[in-house]
Amino acid sequence: MSPVGNTKSDNNLEKNSKEQDFIINNLLTHPLENIEEVDDFYEAINRQHLTHAITKDRPYTYWTIELYDKRNGIRGGGGLGVLAADTRRVAEQSNVPFVLITPFYPSEQHQHYERDGDGFKNYTTHQPVDYHKYGYQFLDTVNIRCNNQLVSLDVVEKVLGTTRIICITEPGFGELYSGDSGGDHRLYQEVALGFGGYQALKLAGLKPAIMQLNEVATFFAALARLDELAENGMDFYEAVVYTRKHTLYTNHTLVQAAEADFSYAQFERYVFPNLRSKAVKKWLSDKFENGHIRLSSVTIEIAELRSGVSKLHARVANYRDLAGNKVKFKAITNGIDIPTWTSPDTVKYLLDKGILDKFYLPTTDYLEKIETITSEDITTLKSKGRLLLNQTLAHRPNQYGEFIEIPENAILFNFKRRFVDYKRPWLPFTQPEKLKAILEKHNAYYILSGRVHEGDARMSARLHAILDLVDKDAVLRKRVHYLPDYDEELGRALSIGANISINNPIVGLEACGTSWMKDIVNLGILVSTHDGGVADMPADNYLNISGNTEDEEVESLYERMEEAASAWEHSFDLEFIIKKELSAYLPVISGTRMLRDYLDYLF
Ligand SMILES: *Cc1c(COP(=O)(O)O)cnc(C)c1O
Repeated sequence: MSPVGNTKSDNNLEKNSKEQDFIINNLLTHPLENIEEVDDFYEAINRQHLTHAITKDRPYTYWTIELYDKRNGIRGGGGLGVLAADTRRVAEQSNVPFVLITPFYPSEQHQHYERDGDGFKNYTTHQPVDYHKYGYQFLDTVNIRCNNQLVSLDVVEKVLGTTRIICITEPGFGELYSGDSGGDHRLYQEVALGFGGYQALKLAGLKPAIMQLNEVATFFAALARLDELAENGMDFYEAVVYTRKHTLYTNHTLVQAAEADFSYAQFERYVFPNLRSKAVKKWLSDKFENGHIRLSSVTIEIAELRSGVSKLHARVANYRDLAGNKVKFKAITNGIDIPTWTSPDTVKYLLDKGILDKFYLPTTDYLEKIETITSEDITTLKSKGRLLLNQTLAHRPNQYGEFIEIPENAILFNFKRRFVDYKRPWLPFTQPEKLKAILEKHNAYYILSGRVHEGDARMSARLHAILDLVDKDAVLRKRVHYLPDYDEELGRALSIGANISINNPIVGLEACGTSWMKDIVNLGILVSTHDGGVADMPADNYLNISGNTEDEEVESLYERMEEAASAWEHSFDLEFIIKKELSAYLPVISGTRMLRDYLDYLF
């Protein structure tokens, strides 16, 4: 089964022009009268700011080193890639001319866990991936210069409605995030995406109306544009101004200092040979400090438009430009493509109730409509969701290689996200007796899923410690399961079929997070610290984990877990919590809202 099967996200939605008008009106906060066609719309808003309208030949271009869209053949690593995939899906539904440029990695990683004597062993396998199997068309090849060699890159594309995915690839391209982040191979991949992707765009007959850079690994795309403008006769400073005006840098990271840097010698081998303009070369050379460069510093220079991915993140991201001034980011909170991540029954329910409109935006009276939700509806939809989850669990083994089934009437907690330090997956296991008591009292289960980054020995040890703890305790062994190789399929299935989700990042370290959005829209109870996009709204809209120390947070976490489990046994409480979550967060969650926010910011 495909990971996000039977959703309509990739269907070529046939829309008549009436519907298009409707979309346009939805995407627009300030009304424009007498606009009939998409092109007119973009032209009209274009008169206000940008030099060129967004059209079929001048699309919105979105650059990303990571795309998480296995249906289209590309496996990502986490939220950055999921966001890219959802942004494209929403653009497709809204009929926005949109091109996503990304590498097609010829190989992907999978993680496995197995019983090994007294403990567990884990290993990684590498699988080849062939773009032909995913409906991509080969366009042609383009060349870049790296390390005294001419590297030939295949350009392939897949058209999806008004959007397309353009990929550059070659057999030696490697895997996503392979090698060190400041290493030669990573620089090669980034240069290939930027310079190769920019040529690929021209090969497809397209010019970018806007370039959105999904993090700094895509800097070279904007650099390629600057180089082209300067080389084609535009005055260098005009070329800089023009490029800046049409480039949006979306930041997902908090601390600039944590970013790896590249050396001048590396740039001499991989970057400078791809530049034709002497003025651009000189400009870039001047940006080095002590022989090193951080891509964020030059991305800030080349992009006048800058966004962060939640209100809190935009406020606290600590970046300085080369002059030492603090950089301001516009807050555009991430959203998700609701039909991709929500059970079809629940999507239909939210549409039928008039809570969401057909573009998956909350309706104007969604708050009143939410009041008509009943606890019976919630429990019925969750039971159906549990069946879908169990279908997935039937082919996704736990840490023992067993296929489990969660009973229909049991309460299910879940924690599903990358295993990185700041997300603290171990927190609910701090006091195993308390966890056991909650699980036993409520006939509850706990599913843990998330990949450890290859080479992260610390987190690998922490995961093994949890698995050992569970293994040595009969109650935990029955009720707690780890699902290896976390991916979109598990993310979706768990959001749909679990009752309670746990999200406990160290406050201040989550840029946005989107897993919690999938949980809320699937009518689950969120137990969370006040961080990332969750902090867009006040903390009384979900079950908040609070505390000044980690010990206090752990106490609070168990209290909230108890409260959440008990709410699933008391219809009044359940209804109250779910309505509150939906009322506060549906506008945040809507990916269409996010795209509209980006368009508003750009135009
Ligand atoms: C939704 C999703 C994410 C996003 O995770 P966050 O931790 O919430 O940012 C990552 N990986 C997969 C597979 C997902 O489905």
